[in-house]
Amino acid sequence: MAADRPPLGALLPSIEVRPPGPASRDHADRLARVESRNVTYRSERWPIFWEEAAEANVVDTDGNVYVDLTGAFGVALLGHANPAVVEAVRGQAGRLLHGMGDVHPPAIKLHLLERLNAVAPWPQARTVLASTGAEAVEVALKTAWLATDRPGILAFEGAYHGLTLGALAATSRPHFRGPFEDRLYRGVAFAPFPAETGEGRSSPEGALEKIAALLDRGAPNGDAIGTVLVEPVQGRAGVRVAPTGFMAALSDLATEAGALVVADEVMTGLGRCGALFASERVGLRPDLVCIGKALGGGMPLSACIGRPQVMDAWPQSEGEAVHTSTFLGHPAACAAALAVLDVVGADRVPERADMLGLTLFRALRERLDGLDGVGEVRGLGLMLGVELVDASGGPAVGAAARLAEAALAEGILVLPSGREGHVVELTPPVCLTDEQAAVAVAVLAEAVRRVVR
Ligand code: PMP
Repeated sequence: MAADRPPLGALLPSIEVRPPGPASRDHADRLARVESRNVTYRSERWPIFWEEAAEANVVDTDGNVYVDLTGAFGVALLGHANPAVVEAVRGQAGRLLHGMGDVHPPAIKLHLLERLNAVAPWPQARTVLASTGAEAVEVALKTAWLATDRPGILAFEGAYHGLTLGALAATSRPHFRGPFEDRLYRGVAFAPFPAETGEGRSSPEGALEKIAALLDRGAPNGDAIGTVLVEPVQGRAGVRVAPTGFMAALSDLATEAGALVVADEVMTGLGRCGALFASERVGLRPDLVCIGKALGGGMPLSACIGRPQVMDAWPQSEGEAVHTSTFLGHPAACAAALAVLDVVGADRVPERADMLGLTLFRALRERLDGLDGVGEVRGLGLMLGVELVDASGGPAVGAAARLAEAALAEGILVLPSGREGHVVELTPPVCLTDEQAAVAVAVLAEAVRRVVR
């Protein structure tokens, strides 16, 4: 089948067998016997197993071709299997596949750090590399604690920062915290994340007042707050954008209180939101920035980048790093990231993300606004959310998963998001074609009609 198919990338969906087809269903049965049952969700209509992907296309194990509006959790900003990234990984894998990150470093780690330094929001930035977003957040939390000598954290309602215990303590969703609550650090104060519109509506003034009080009063356990941890645009909370001016005012409050601002740009960074760092666009002035996802172009890589004065709170290594990991500065991941940074610059990815994001946003508004069951369409750049509402205008609990299943059947990949599972999250690759975008929007509109009401 693959032999007579045109090259993957710009194809429209092509569904040969109703997903999940027999091969995906067989894989799901087998997976259930070998993987912890919590990991992969299974239903009659979910999941498909991926075999191949390029640009905005994914092919499942039954030969169905999909258009991917998830970018695989936002990772594939430059498209799946971006040729420059693949080439870089291939070349590096043949030369040096693994090094000794913090002992005898691979030379390519240095090259990547120099490049990150050149694009960081401050001169002479210092970076700690890691593999996952959560790990980058852990580094930021440790750094800010060392630098301020105040362990307390201010985070936001709806926040998602990862599921390792430190990051989880600052993640607000009860679903993730519940079983582990007793082991989570209690020095996290959660503030409202103001949203101009939609279900999370709350005024920025009210939120800022609460934040000022919390910074003054300290965390629930009495710890003084040294870290303000914030997503420039909340992602997993359902793509929530704060009103203009809020992030700048938040930065002012943090500075006045002597706290450091950590921007969690794991999802927003590297151009997705129309600037290399979304912080720039929303007026946030971070002291530390966490990136991941798109950074490795598909390889697991993340980084915590910081102002030199802040990063130098870490002691000089006297033989053993206080924080490191086996795969720190992984050569193949570094090679991929260098290629990503090349492409982001050469192809003007932030500008393209902004333009494509606007086109998609307008098309979604045109097709979906006013449909029964659709609340707000929102987002920044190529990070968009479609809010689904019930008859009373409240969140249509769980509707986004039903919509994702319906879209999957038509060859469009989307993810549910939001605390109530009522937001369709769109983080597509920047190479999504106009035709693919138009078909995807039409499928989503039809799915809303069928599934939401
Ligand atoms: N921060 C944000 C804003 C994220 O969206 C995510 C992942 N969705 C993370 C941190 C955690 O990243 P990872 O899953 O790679 O640990």
